[in-house]
Amino acid sequence: MLNIVLFGPPGAGKGTQSEKIIAKYKLVHISTGDLFRKHLSEGTELGLLAKKYMNEGHLVPDEVVIGMVKEKINENRMVSGFIFDGFPRTVPQAEALEGFLKQINAQINGMVALEVTEDELRARLLERGKTSGRADDQDMEKINTRIQVYHNETTPVAEYYKAKGKYHGVYGIGAIDEIFNNICVEIESLK
Ligand code: AMP
Repeated sequence: MLNIVLFGPPGAGKGTQSEKIIAKYKLVHISTGDLFRKHLSEGTELGLLAKKYMNEGHLVPDEVVIGMVKEKINENRMVSGFIFDGFPRTVPQAEALEGFLKQINAQINGMVALEVTEDELRARLLERGKTSGRADDQDMEKINTRIQVYHNETTPVAEYYKAKGKYHGVYGIGAIDEIFNNICVEIESLK
């Protein structure tokens, strides 16, 4: 299996690049943000629970996210690999993921981290807010909360993979295809 964590702050381009990566490498895409938005649109109990955290730019509690990802992994047993997008966002999530993959004799091969300056992130998120319909993209206060949450709770996840020698940084500003090519170079090195 080839299992990749696509990492980066909100607005780094994870969604855009995920689409290109899954098309090329035939991986199963697990985006926790997309999964929550699906629950929200379907009005499920999980969606209602997640909504208040998402709309404020805060993280949904670990046990909720971890349970949802576990279910997705279990539904997709015979696959060539996964790309995790927007997950793990805390160290307990990273530890849980390691445990789930161990149970199927697999592991994270590497983390590919999109590196983007904060000014660029703010500009991109505000621009996305014009068309995404996402409540959390709409105003600067929520955007700033998400960037702050990323610094406080999520950057330790990069350290977690760095300590295992699995961190692969990719400069995330420029043409989409150029960034994608640089991501592919890193993915090839994991195979
Ligand atoms: P995203 O689409 O990845 O930017 O996620 C949108 C929102 O969903 C986040 O701001 C969080 O409220 C929630 N969310 C997505 N993934 C996670 C996660 N791994 N842990 C906690 N909350 C998450």
